[in-house]
Amino acid sequence: MRSPHGRLRLSSDSTAPDRAGPQPRVIPREQHNLSRKQISRGALRVLYGLKDAGFRACLVGGAVRDLLLGRQPKDFDVATDATPEEVRKLFRNCRLIGRRFRLAHVVFGPEIVEVATFRGTGDGDGNGDRHVVDGRILRDNVWGTIEEDALRRDFRVNALYYDIADFSVIDYVGGIGDLEDRKLRLIGDPATRYREDPVRMLRAARLAAKLGFEIDPAAAAPFEQLGHLLADAPPARLFDECQKMFMAGYGLASFRMLERYDLLRHLFPGTARALAKDASGALHALVERGLAGTDARVVEGRPVTPAFLFAVLLWGEVEALAKEFQEQGVARTLAWQRAAHRVMAEQGKRVAIPRRFGYAIEEIWALQPRFAERARKRVFRLLAHPRFRAAYDFLLLRAGESEAVRELGEWWTQAQSVPPDQLSASLASRTPAATAGEAVCKPKRRRRRRGGKGSKPASPQSDSQA
Ligand code: ATP
Ligand code: MG
Repeated sequence: MRSPHGRLRLSSDSTAPDRAGPQPRVIPREQHNLSRKQISRGALRVLYGLKDAGFRACLVGGAVRDLLLGRQPKDFDVATDATPEEVRKLFRNCRLIGRRFRLAHVVFGPEIVEVATFRGTGDGDGNGDRHVVDGRILRDNVWGTIEEDALRRDFRVNALYYDIADFSVIDYVGGIGDLEDRKLRLIGDPATRYREDPVRMLRAARLAAKLGFEIDPAAAAPFEQLGHLLADAPPARLFDECQKMFMAGYGLASFRMLERYDLLRHLFPGTARALAKDASGALHALVERGLAGTDARVVEGRPVTPAFLFAVLLWGEVEALAKEFQEQGVARTLAWQRAAHRVMAEQGKRVAIPRRFGYAIEEIWALQPRFAERARKRVFRLLAHPRFRAAYDFLLLRAGESEAVRELGEWWTQAQSVPPDQLSASLASRTPAATAGEAVCKPKRRRRRRGGKGSKPASPQSDSQA
């Protein structure tokens, strides 16, 4: 738990040098605030199971960092000197995963405890099962000591160990000092560490956003030179990283970090281009509102889908392209289809968006121009569309684009708030060819106040992600 002064509550006599070196700083049980009660049942069973079998077992990484900061960890990772095969022999509910980085997953109902064997700092190719090409680590399965394991983690705050043998916290690299300074510092030479694994640049932005930490200038300096290496990172891994960045309750903060450090263009090149042309700021506002809406849903424990989020992030590009095609004479529906396909294909080279989300994204976009059509048959067809809700929420996000779009959003909010027969009657008096740009046809009924009985909420993403 943090003290009111923002310092970590550690006893004053735990003041061994907090720099990297052979002597770790060991904080005994009575001098830190990490207690077993805060550790998940599954992680405790794994830690004790390993210890009772004679192995070294520590909680490590984000869980130790978060608990020392007084935050609830997302998951619990365990590091041990048992090999994956030895872990499997100990726990029936265990499966081995990964090739690049072999791990054991021990499963307790919905909880998965990740168990990693201490990694060594092997000197590159030819050393055991470690494979390095052009400085990039493609496989890392060389076992080592706990000290070596600490040194190959990314940030110093991520390299703290909670030892189940005596409940002490062990710091080989100065992570405790960084937690106190609220700084993200890389272990070792930043450029080398990013070349080994460029995704660490995104992890820096994400963790700074999540924790509200500063990225140490030395850790941020290589972004400009090395950001382009992200283009070669596996797209599936970048999708996972996007989910962590944007779907865990701190998406807006992550986005701002990516912008601040000019990393966005390496992950979403088209989005960065569209934002650079966004003179009015409308696109920027749409993206920020979309991310803030998703964050709010996560905080409220409501479901979220990556489809809505990617639809938001890629909107500026797809809209501009659809417009361009239409100006070249391509019919509207086809123009949107072509634009969507092209944007998704280009983005897919960076971030592997699973196909099922791809369909949903394209539908959310394809429905946007259809909101402008208010002939009765079309209105009811759109209301009954399975993707109506998400598309409507998306329309509300676009309110800042123009007065016409804002009015369109209001019209559809009202259209949902009146009974179908009344809506039908109000639309019957209109010409069947009613189309875009037309004044809002108010269904003939006194407008209900938002949140009133029977009215649908008009907040962004009300139900779209369910
Ligand atoms: P979160 O709270 O989001 O889970 P985390 O730091 O726990 O953050 P994980 O992806 O769960 O992130 O990784 C667990 C730990 O594994 C990290 O704390 C770090 O010690 C180590 N780690 C993860 N990714 C890397 C990487 N790319 N390079 C080096 N070490 C890494
Ligand atoms: Mg974690």
